[in-house]
Formats: sequence, structure tokens, C-alpha cells
Amino acid sequence: MTARARDIAVLGAGCSGLHLALALIERCYPGKVTLFEARPSYHNDRTWSFFTEEPNAFPYLRHTWAEIEVGAQGQRAHYNTAPFVYANTNASAFIGYALEAIRKAPRTQLELGVRADVDLSGRKPWTGGLAWDFVVDTRPQMPAPGTLLQHFLGAFVEFPDPRLAPFMDASGKPKRCVLMDFYPPKSSSVRFMYLLPFSEKKGLFEVTHFSLSRVTQSTYLNDLSAYLGAHFPGPHRIVRMEKGVLPMSATPTPERIHPDYVEIGSRGGALKPSTGYGFLAMRAQAAALADAIMCDAGTISLPPARPARKRAVDAIFLDYLIHHFADGPMLYQRLFANNPTRRLIRFLGDTSSLNEDLQVMASVPLLPFARTLLTRLLPFAR
Ligand SMILES: Cc1cc2nc3c(=O)[nH]c(=O)nc-3n(C[C@H](O)[C@H](O)[C@H](O)COP(=O)(O)OP(=O)(O)OC[C@H]3O[C@@H](n4cnc5c(N)ncnc54)[C@H](O)[C@@H]3O)c2cc1C
Repeated sequence: MTARARDIAVLGAGCSGLHLALALIERCYPGKVTLFEARPSYHNDRTWSFFTEEPNAFPYLRHTWAEIEVGAQGQRAHYNTAPFVYANTNASAFIGYALEAIRKAPRTQLELGVRADVDLSGRKPWTGGLAWDFVVDTRPQMPAPGTLLQHFLGAFVEFPDPRLAPFMDASGKPKRCVLMDFYPPKSSSVRFMYLLPFSEKKGLFEVTHFSLSRVTQSTYLNDLSAYLGAHFPGPHRIVRMEKGVLPMSATPTPERIHPDYVEIGSRGGALKPSTGYGFLAMRAQAAALADAIMCDAGTISLPPARPARKRAVDAIFLDYLIHHFADGPMLYQRLFANNPTRRLIRFLGDTSSLNEDLQVMASVPLLPFARTLLTRLLPFAR
């Protein structure tokens, strides 16, 4: 089928906007696509990681790890992730790849330094004084007050000696990374270190908090220096830092408010609130939207980014976490210890079946958890 050649505006050219541009270029979409990006230029401001069985499907990957560690205060269990690997890219690599594809695509245009807005009051959406056949909005939104937050500071740390050698394989390539190494439990937050060793001497150390309020930069840096002092003592240098604040709220995908307007990305419900992972879901959502645009017979429909059952499971976790912060470290450690790693990775990646979801939830023998589980999940079992 030949797609209708609509003029499409994409507001925001970050992770989801660029994924959509790539998906439309791949499908040789015959219409014009214009991406508006508020930033005048890109910076290497974030790393994206995810579990995948197909690392070759991502030409912009930087590193992969075949084992992960999860534990508390340096005492960590090792898990082999086969057939998955934990894979990592960064803004430079992914955005560079997307920009190169856009540069070669005659009908796709990127306008940097344009802070766009949209007016949906008329028959066609308007933005920047122009009427568009279809507008895709990826502009991030501020989390509502009272939302549980995942907030973090990642430091790229260099050591003068091979202090990260235990994480490398015999050929010196990265083999293991640390998904969660919990700090001592607290009643108002869950805190853990996330460590991606890139070489014997370099790694990303990310101090991550789940809590209702953010903390100052010095709090993260104190947590970082305490961790380095306890587990990797000796001199080190922080080369650069990245920061993030992600909402942990299992709210439904927003309703469509105009037939020619759609919201995607974290704005469109693609972020998994219990983990903060979104890269793969945004890639899949962009592919689904590009398919719908290609099959456009007058209306472009898009399924919810995450199915209702997955949102219900997240809601259970978040309900539990928000009332039992001090149990958080135990909850996550039990999930890893009491499930085959493959099942848990499918669960984290939203590809698990209902049966697997129930097995994962049942692996956490906590009474309040079981109660919430029954009330929230049973409707989906009918
Ligand atoms: C530091 C960091 C690390 C992360 N790590 C991971 C990870 O390891 N794995 C994972 O799966 N997820 C991760 N995430 C979560 C998620 O994948 C990212 O936040 C992702 O970038 C969200 O994609 P998005 O398209 O919704 O928003 P963004 O990528 O933020 O893109 C939105 C774009 O809109 C632009 N914009 C804003 N306002 C306007 C406007 N008015 N007009 C035009 N443009 C505008 C912004 O400048 C931005 O470029 C991370 C997030 C952060 C912040």
C-alpha cells in the first residue's frame, strides 16, 4: 500500500522523536517530516542501556555485558543473562547515527534551536504559524507533585590503575556490570549504585534514588564518594556527569485529544515507571506509529505504549514501594534471587506473559504485596 503523503511535524528530537524519524526513513515514507528541537545543539548528556537478545539490531551500541550483579553494600550475587546481554549506547552514538540518516533523507528535516508549541483548536494542528497534517509531540512533561521519582547522578570515573579489572573478561573486555548495589535501607527512599564498567580503568557510577523528593547535588556526590571509598578506595577522577529525574507513576497513556495529534515517548507513556527503562519501548512505539502512518486510511491509530496489565503490575510495585521504602532493597534482591534470570529480564522488559508476571510477583513472599496483587491482577486473568 502507498502511504498518504501527509506533512508531519515532530515536536522534540530526542530519543522518541529520532526513533520515529528513523522508522519513517526506513519505511521510505513519501511525506515531509519536520522535527523541531529546542536545543541548538546536542550534547552527550545521557547513556541508554537495556537488555536485548539481538545486539546486532542496534548499530550504535557501545558496550555489552553478559553478566549482571545485584546485591547490597558490596555483597552482590552474579547472574548470567543469556540469551540476553545488557547493552549500552549513549547520546553521541545514537543521536549521531540518527542525524546521519536524517542528513541523507531528502524529505526529513531537523530544525535545531526551535522551541515549538502546538495549537489544537482548529481542524488541523498548528505549530510555529504553520498548519500540519499530523503532529507528533514528544516534549517531556514535569511530573505531577507527589509523584514518586527515580532521580540520579551518574559520574564517569577514571582510575589511574585497573581497579575495575574484576569486571572484565580474559581479553580485557567488559563482562559484568552492577545493576543494583543497595545502600542501607531508609524509611523515605531507596538508594542504590548502578555501575557500568567500560574498561579496567573507566566506568559510569550512577547514584540512584527512588523517593518523593529530589536531593541536592552534594547528596549524590557524598553517596558516590562513600561508595567509592568503601569499595574502590584510592585516587580517582570524575571526567563528566549526567543527571536525570524520571516519574515513577503508572498513569495510563494519555487520551488522544485531536485526531491528527499524538503523544509519544515518556510523554506518551513509554517509560516503565518501576524501572525507568524506556529506550526499547520508545523504539517499538515509534515503529508502531510509523507502520500506522504508512497504512493511513484517513485516521492514524496508535495502541497504548504499554498494555494495561503491565501498568497494573507496575502500580503494585509502586504502591508497595511508596509505603515500604525500607523493604525496597530486599524486594528487588528477592526478585532476582527467586526467579530464573531470563524470566525476570522478560518481566523487566514488558515481554513476559501473565503466567510469568504472576510467578514473578509470587516470588516476593510479602503479605501486603500478595494482597495488592490479588486485587489488581485478577481482573486481567478473566
Ligand atoms: C540521564 C538519563 C539516563 C537514562 N538512561 C536510560 C537507560 O539507561 N535506559 C532506558 O531505557 N532509559 C533511560 N532513560 C529514560 C528515557 O529513555 C530517556 O529519558 C529518553 O531520552 C526519553 O525520551 P523522550 O523522547 O521521551 O524524551 P527526550 O529524549 O528528552 O526528548 C525530548 C526532546 O524534546 C525537546 N524539547 C523539549 N521542549 C521542546 C519544545 N518546546 N520544542 C521542541 N523541542 C522540545 C528536548 O530538548 C528533547 O530533546 C534515561 C534518562 C535520562 C535523563
